[in-house]
Amino acid sequence: MKIFKYMKIYILLVTFILFINLLQIPVYSKDLNEKKILVIVSSENYIQLTDGNKLISWQNSMLSSISDVFIKNKENIHIDFQYLDCKHNSKEFLDEVYNLFKIKYANIKYDAIITIDDLNNVAFNFMMDYGENLFPNTPVVFSGISKFDSSLQKQHPQFTGIAKNTDIKSTLDAALKLHPQTKQIFVITDKDTYGIANRKIIEDLIPHYKNKVKFLFSEENNIYKLKTQIDNLPKDTIIYFSPGIKDNNNDNSISYKGASDILFKDAKVPIYSREGLKSNKYIVGGMVTYADTYGTEVGNLTLKVLNGKKPSDIDITRDNAHKYEFNYPQLKKFNIDTNSLPKNSVILNAPIKNNYLYKNIIIKISIMIIIFIIIMETFVIIISIYRRKLAEKSLSDNENLLRTFINSTPDIIYLKDFRNNFLEINDAALKILSINRKNCKNINSHKSNNLSDYTRNLLTKFNINDKRAWDTENIYRYEEIIPDTVNRANKIYDTLRVPLFDEDGNPKFMMLIGRDITEHKQNEKNEKLIKELKYYDELRSNFFSNISHELKTPLNLIFSALQFIELKNNKDKNTALEKYTGIMKQNCYRLLRIIDNLIDISKIDSGNFFTHFENKDIVYIVESIVMSVVDYVESKGIDIVFDTDVEEKIMAFDLDAMERIILNLLSNAIKFTPSGGNIEVNLHDRGESIVISIKDTGIGIPKDKQCSIFKKFIQVDKSLSRNREGSGIGLSLVSELVLLHRGTIEVESAPNKGSEFKITLPVGVLPEKENVKKHNELDKDYNIQRIKIEFSDIYDY
Ligand code: ADP
Repeated sequence: MKIFKYMKIYILLVTFILFINLLQIPVYSKDLNEKKILVIVSSENYIQLTDGNKLISWQNSMLSSISDVFIKNKENIHIDFQYLDCKHNSKEFLDEVYNLFKIKYANIKYDAIITIDDLNNVAFNFMMDYGENLFPNTPVVFSGISKFDSSLQKQHPQFTGIAKNTDIKSTLDAALKLHPQTKQIFVITDKDTYGIANRKIIEDLIPHYKNKVKFLFSEENNIYKLKTQIDNLPKDTIIYFSPGIKDNNNDNSISYKGASDILFKDAKVPIYSREGLKSNKYIVGGMVTYADTYGTEVGNLTLKVLNGKKPSDIDITRDNAHKYEFNYPQLKKFNIDTNSLPKNSVILNAPIKNNYLYKNIIIKISIMIIIFIIIMETFVIIISIYRRKLAEKSLSDNENLLRTFINSTPDIIYLKDFRNNFLEINDAALKILSINRKNCKNINSHKSNNLSDYTRNLLTKFNINDKRAWDTENIYRYEEIIPDTVNRANKIYDTLRVPLFDEDGNPKFMMLIGRDITEHKQNEKNEKLIKELKYYDELRSNFFSNISHELKTPLNLIFSALQFIELKNNKDKNTALEKYTGIMKQNCYRLLRIIDNLIDISKIDSGNFFTHFENKDIVYIVESIVMSVVDYVESKGIDIVFDTDVEEKIMAFDLDAMERIILNLLSNAIKFTPSGGNIEVNLHDRGESIVISIKDTGIGIPKDKQCSIFKKFIQVDKSLSRNREGSGIGLSLVSELVLLHRGTIEVESAPNKGSEFKITLPVGVLPEKENVKKHNELDKDYNIQRIKIEFSDIYDY
């Protein structure tokens, strides 16, 4: 519904606009605003030429320019033309014309009348004499008259106009100036009104040239006779030519061009004229009035009058439609320099004109090309500026990135010129040199005087090494020692110098990158030391192993000898001998224990200790070991008990190693438990592991010593070991053997309360085929021997 409402409004609006447009037609009706002008022209419209052409008259050119003015100013003006026959200008004739016009224009009212004359003043004079009666109170704009007496305007206030400059005098003046040797001016005019008027003007000018040149007027009507006359003119003559020539056969005017071709073809003297220069190649030049310019001036003046300006208020002026025109070929013919021509002269038919046109086109094209190039160049420059800006931005971004990067590295970096001025230096280098960035700029100037001795010395050091790099002309690597002021130690920098040269090989820049390798150097030293230590450790282990074996041989011999003595003594029963052989045997066992321990520990250290795992009942083995020492322990006044929460536990372990572990721990428990004390051996089954605990009520181990007892050769209290001898390698061997079973050993102890050693062993069973049985149960003799060795530290006597 809304759309119909808008459509209604739209239709109404269109109808209204159409209606208004229809109403406006009578508003702009032609009849209401039209102004009427009568143009009275002194001569006939056309001059009929003998060659059949019609020469468009000067007046006609003017007329079209006048109507152009009205058209351009959008004036709605109706123009009527009235031609007078200027050849008939007698009083009787003109009275008759007046009578005729009185009838003709009786009922027509004109807004203005324009008269057009060409020197003869026929139209102007007609309007002066009859105008007021014919067209009362109608403004008159005259043109083309050569003389106007301003007093006339007072008598005829409705008259105004533009008087025509008498360009004949200007033409003659220019001609005489260009031909200073001239003695005579030969004037050629015809006998019609126009010609007579021209002749009259020239006759009036004669006094101006008195004593300079004489004037000769052509009286000859026959064109060919006139030609002969012209051909015979003396050299110091110039011709003034006024067109309108008639030939001798009829009364028609001959064409201007035709007449000129006949008359001047062989003329040897220069010819001047104020008309027809463009069509007459024989004329040297003259002052020319431009009909179109003059017509425009008259048209504009008429407009003023039509717009209400009083003619009497408009001053009579002279026309400005003049210019000197010269024919280039004629100038050449008479050797007239173009520079000697009057100012602003127009040169016609100049070959240079064609060149000029050609040049003009070339210049225009060149200018266009130049403008195009400039625009393109500007475009290219703008684009390149834009690109440069982008590149600069990305460069500066990259530069910032690079600067951030080089400043974030702990390596020292600098770039110097050949005179040791820093061009770029990073924060790490500034720190090393103990200077700030500002100081760095003036490092080589007098301002650097306030540098510290440290900085100065370091800079000198850098400069010396830079010099070395320049000399090598190659990348120069050097370990530079830089004092560390903070830690009061030297720092070692691995420096790399890159000398950069220009194309001619002249030194340009020096780049340095240095890395702190102090720690690296220290590590290198330590590694070397560790290697050496490892080497000596190996040597020592090997030595221990060798020497232990060596010791065992004499010891076995002693043993054999002792056994022999014992055998002999059993018969004789010498108690003293028995006692001393006992001591000797005891100490032999001790020596054997030390040697065995040393051999095993050395083997473990060097990775040459081999275990023999077999599936056995750990409960039975541990209990058997405990049982085998019960008598011995109890002889020391110590109670010993074995307890277990499991009857049997088959698992893989090394039987010898297990004996050594248990006997060693038991021997220590006996050694450090005074008589009257207790020793408990417990075995707990925890499924995946078993825990064997050997607990005594002995002297205990101080807390601070507990972690070191498993280390080699550590004995807690030497003084307490007097009757408890030991080498301090027993527990370390035990812990190594436990480790070989992937088990752990720990101690809980308190001084004078006792100690408990707990061994936790993972329970693993070997597959049947891998279970190489060595011995099913404890070898009794071997076991006694083992006990003697392990218990050898405890004095029996
Ligand atoms: P040693 O061969 O001298 O006995 P061990 O390695 O077996 O060396 O023992 C190291 C030291 O640990 C001993 O010298 C002793 O001081 C202490 N120690 C070991 N077992 C016990 C214990 N059951 N009670 C008290 N001290 C002990």
